[in-house]
Amino acid sequence: MPDETMLNAKPRYPRVVVDREKLGENLDYVIEKCGDYGVEVAGVIKGANGIPGIIPLYLSRPCVQIASSRLEQLRRVREMDPGHTKDTLLLRIPMLSEIKEVVELCDVVLVSEEVQLKALDRAAAEQGKTVKVILMADLGDLREGWWDRGEMLKAALLAENGLENIRLEGVGTNLGCYGSIVPTKEKLDELVEVAEMIEAEIGRELRFISGGATSSFMRVLDGDLPLRINHLRIGEVILLARDLELFYGYDLSGMHMDAFTLEAEVIEVKDKPSHPVGELGIDAFGHTQTYVDRGIRKRALIGVGKVDMADPFDLFPRDEGIEVLGASSDHTILDIEGCPDIKVGDILEFDLNYGSLVHLTSAPGVRIVYK
Ligand SMILES: *Cc1c(COP(=O)(O)O)cnc(C)c1O
Repeated sequence: MPDETMLNAKPRYPRVVVDREKLGENLDYVIEKCGDYGVEVAGVIKGANGIPGIIPLYLSRPCVQIASSRLEQLRRVREMDPGHTKDTLLLRIPMLSEIKEVVELCDVVLVSEEVQLKALDRAAAEQGKTVKVILMADLGDLREGWWDRGEMLKAALLAENGLENIRLEGVGTNLGCYGSIVPTKEKLDELVEVAEMIEAEIGRELRFISGGATSSFMRVLDGDLPLRINHLRIGEVILLARDLELFYGYDLSGMHMDAFTLEAEVIEVKDKPSHPVGELGIDAFGHTQTYVDRGIRKRALIGVGKVDMADPFDLFPRDEGIEVLGASSDHTILDIEGCPDIKVGDILEFDLNYGSLVHLTSAPGVRIVYK
């Protein structure tokens, strides 16, 4: 991954500019709000692909773990934290083929299969370690987690009593990822019930009841998070502070939506028809498209494309008067009728959402620079 640490004198485009001060303030905001409710935060870095320049921010703040779904990113965290000051948390339930590395790199692991517990235990024994696990309950979003409570209890008892190198740290759930289920107070009460069922059997309190991701931060903002939920795994609202305002109407004016900026260079400016001229077939990706005829319009091309950001409609021009029309692999087409002064060589700025951030920060052709 190309990774420039400073805004350099001779910039190359496209590039993502990371404002570390704004990102740090977002981290502080979320950690403090959660802290008011006795909730500890796992800082989730996967939305920005765990790019190295953001890791020190997470290391320097009182989040209880740094979390990712990807081992490569947690390896980077470990390398940047030689004193092991911060626990790493693996969000994606582990593949059996990577268990050895999981034990090497992760302090806490989310788990949803007994066979994972046993494999983790064996690898931990070999490495002379203890692995902390959080057992995932599926409350209806239908991604990972035990559906059957009896089976989950059995796994909890195995982790508690049957495996010497495993420590049962808690239970968790994930909502709003596949099944679009909203983490309502009632849903999270169900998680507390699951936790208390397990606690009754093992005769002690669990360290973590992990109530979800950014979408569960809504319960913190509303002040109706069930009391016993004491852990959230938060990515998006720290990185972008976008979805909860856009989709649920929360006031996030205390946060920065512009910690990440895409800068792209204008490579062509011309007046052209808005409707393609000739017989319509398929586009570069084999799709049939429709086009609105708005007559002759001023348009610009920028040097970034679907290879870099996947979907051009996940880019949001900072200049009012610029409209994204579409893209092919390496070009994005903009209507600039509202910004007639744009010329070839200009640099245009865009806000990002989760989709464009996650793609752009992993695209080999996109530079990353830090303010
Ligand atoms: C990605 C992920 C998160 C963080 O999600 P955000 O919506 O970015 O806050 C939390 N938990 C799990 C299991 C995840 O996979």
